[in-house]
Amino acid sequence: MKQELRKIVEPIIEWYQNQEKTLPWKQDKEPYHIWVSEIMLQQTRIEAVKKYYTRFMKELPTIQDLACVPEEKLLKLWEGLGYYSRARNLKKAAIQIEQEYEGKMPTNYADLLKLAGIGEYTAGAIASISYKEKVPAVDGNVLRVISRVLASKEDVLLPETKRNITKALFEILPDEPGDFNEGLMELGEKICLPNTVPLCETCPIQEFCRAYKENLTKEIPIRIKKQKRKIEKRTVFILEYQNHMAIRKREKTGILANLYEFPNVIRRSDRRRNSKNIRTMEHTI
Ligand code: SF4
Repeated sequence: MKQELRKIVEPIIEWYQNQEKTLPWKQDKEPYHIWVSEIMLQQTRIEAVKKYYTRFMKELPTIQDLACVPEEKLLKLWEGLGYYSRARNLKKAAIQIEQEYEGKMPTNYADLLKLAGIGEYTAGAIASISYKEKVPAVDGNVLRVISRVLASKEDVLLPETKRNITKALFEILPDEPGDFNEGLMELGEKICLPNTVPLCETCPIQEFCRAYKENLTKEIPIRIKKQKRKIEKRTVFILEYQNHMAIRKREKTGILANLYEFPNVIRRSDRRRNSKNIRTMEHTI
């Protein structure tokens, strides 16, 4: 795996360095800017983030401004982006930075991970782009590109697949880890597209891509969807006698294994309206 991945490092860096950097958060490598943009970009399209990011930076240009902003104003700036816990965590982390890091963003991956709302991906992005620390930043785009390069049959929805890819990337990171990480993400956004035919003819790593060579780009990445939730309607019997209630133990396997429950059957009772001791319930499995 390592040998195959080493080959894509230089072409990706070269390709990325030649890309136009028009997005407002790509104008510098200021950690505060990378941080806010990465948090906004979670669950939100790039185009939609542009105007929010610009307004946010105008109103709260420093970490100190963010730490002091009244919650009402913060939420107003976030209005329309959704997932408001992201905004609250930004402020929480800004206060942490003020109190524990003398108002300066931590300069390494391990400390970044301690901040509220910052997970492995965001910590990796900030550490590698702003501080050139050799850590990967693995998001959905990166998982897709790497899975295709390796023609991997692993399910990208499994944490183990992400762990393996992260480990492999750790071993091949170059001296410009930020450009490489950003290049991988951008390649996934612009060329190695999801849910459609990737633009392999314009891809800078086409000659090293096994999915392309083996005509597997439609099948990879593999995503094994979880089974849909099944809702069961049950009739539950409340059997009471002299202050005692009947319960029974569930099966040894399956959902809520070995726990106790009121006796019940898997269909609705027509008599439920006539008896307070027979109730229906919905059971999600
Ligand atoms: S060759 Fe095609 S499938 Fe392979 S990395 Fe490039 S765009 Fe993705």
